[in-house]
Amino acid sequence: MATNANAGTGATAEIGVIGGSGFYSFLEAVTEVQVDTPYGSPSDSLFLGEIAGRKVAFLPRHGRGHHLPPNRINYRANLWALRSVGVRQVLGPCAVGGLRPEYGPGTLLVPDQFVDRTQARVQTFYDGYPLPDGTVPKVVHVSTADPYCPDGRKAALAAARGRDWEPVDGGALVVVEGPRFSTRAESLWYRAMGWSVVGMTGHPEAVLARELALCYTSMTLVTDLDAGAGTGEGVSHDEVFKVFAANVDRLRAVLFDAVAGLPANGARECLCSHALDGVDSGLQLP
Ligand SMILES: [Zn+2]
Repeated sequence: MATNANAGTGATAEIGVIGGSGFYSFLEAVTEVQVDTPYGSPSDSLFLGEIAGRKVAFLPRHGRGHHLPPNRINYRANLWALRSVGVRQVLGPCAVGGLRPEYGPGTLLVPDQFVDRTQARVQTFYDGYPLPDGTVPKVVHVSTADPYCPDGRKAALAAARGRDWEPVDGGALVVVEGPRFSTRAESLWYRAMGWSVVGMTGHPEAVLARELALCYTSMTLVTDLDAGAGTGEGVSHDEVFKVFAANVDRLRAVLFDAVAGLPANGARECLCSHALDGVDSGLQLP
């Protein structure tokens, strides 16, 4: 049964996972919690569970019925909702296309950079518009030179290796607006730039997390070769879901091991945890 948890009711999770329902549906005790935010509703309820003694909040990025396309996800509400239940570290698994022939379906790549090719997404909390409670965020510029949490990346890479799934350590994730897949010309361009994988949800998730001083780690699963890297007809929707389904069990195992390997929230020493040090943002963070 769904319960309502508003900001300030106390921490109920420490780690957030933004991904599909395949990641929490096999956990024994899961509590569904509805969270409202000043930015509207997140993609779905939060599903709270426990992995290796760590309290985790799962959020189906596209909604549990997968009804939200990447360009209509309320990314701000998602990150705010996670923070409001106590989350300070976020893992964001997502499906991507490989931009190089050697990154075929089933490749696990933990990016260390992203390239924003989206066009119509709100990508900041600090836009100067007043919130419903009357507070007005100031203009804040966070550093995203290194957009992902170094400690989270270490935990993800170690977790994959521990499951004999040698990951690709680093590379740039190109994030496109979608929901269409890339043209061959676009894909060839991304590849020529030396970028590694292309997806639709990595941005603005990482940036918004940084703006709330949350750690964010992206874990990408290659489900297809993008149009410019493959020789076939280009990417199809069916192909992507088939490869994702074939890999979801081991991705879940790696994800859970990564959760177990994250530092305690109070022990974070990474750049993400200091993103707002000395900054008067005008926002009362939950
Ligand atoms: Zn961090």
